[in-house]
Amino acid sequence: MLNVVIFGAPGSGKGTQSEFIEKKYGLVHLSTGDILRAEIAKGSEIGKIADGLISRGEFIPDDLMISILNGTIDKYPTSKGFIFDGFPRTVAQAEALDSMLKRRNIRVTLMLNIDVETNELVKRLLNRGKTSGRSDDNLKTIHQRIQVYETKTLPVIQFYDRQNKHHRIKGTGTMDEVFADICAAIDSVYPTKTNV
Ligand code: ATP
Ligand code: MG
Repeated sequence: MLNVVIFGAPGSGKGTQSEFIEKKYGLVHLSTGDILRAEIAKGSEIGKIADGLISRGEFIPDDLMISILNGTIDKYPTSKGFIFDGFPRTVAQAEALDSMLKRRNIRVTLMLNIDVETNELVKRLLNRGKTSGRSDDNLKTIHQRIQVYETKTLPVIQFYDRQNKHHRIKGTGTMDEVFADICAAIDSVYPTKTNV
C-alpha cells in the first residue's frame, strides 16, 4: 500500500496535487477540508461545530478530527492506498494517524511537504477568494490560518523527519513542475508499483 501525507501551508496546492496523485497512482484522496465543508453543507452536528471554527481560521479539535478520519478510512477497505490531504495538522494528529494505520497493519509511506513562501500563499488565497466562496479565503482569516499553521502545524515536519519520511517539494513553478518533483519523490521510495 502506498500512503501519502500531503503537507503544506494553506494555499500551498495540496488539493491540486492530491488530485494529480490520485489519478496517476490510483489512491483514495481524503481531504479533511473537503470532508468538513461537506458536513457544513449538510448542516450536520459536525458541520455546525466546524463552520465557525473554519471561518475564523481555527482548527477543529484534534479528538473530533481524529475520529472523523478514523471513520472515513473504514469506508475504503479495498483501497490501494490513501492520500491524506490536510491531515495531520498537529503532532497529536500525526501520532493518532500512526496508531490508526498500525491497527490496520499499514503505515505512512512518505510525507510530501509542499513549500511555498508566505507572500505567495497570501496572494494565491486572496485570488482564490474571488471565486471560491470559501468563508476562510479573506485577508483576516488567511493571516490567522498562516499563524496557526506556523505554531501548530510546522512541528509535524520534525515528526516525519525523525521517521525519515519527510520530502521537501518546491511548491512554486508550474503545477506540472511541482507534480514532476512529487512523482520523483514517490517513485524513489515506492518504485515498483508505478509501472504496473
Ligand atoms: P489548501 O492547501 O488546499 O488550500 P487549506 O489549508 O486552505 O488547504 P483545507 O485543508 O481545505 O484548507 O482546510 C480548511 C479548514 O478546515 C482549516 O483551516 C481548518 O479550520 C479545518 N481543518 C481541515 N483539516 C483539519 C485538521 N486536520 N485539523 C483541524 N482542522 C482542520
Ligand atoms: Mg485543500
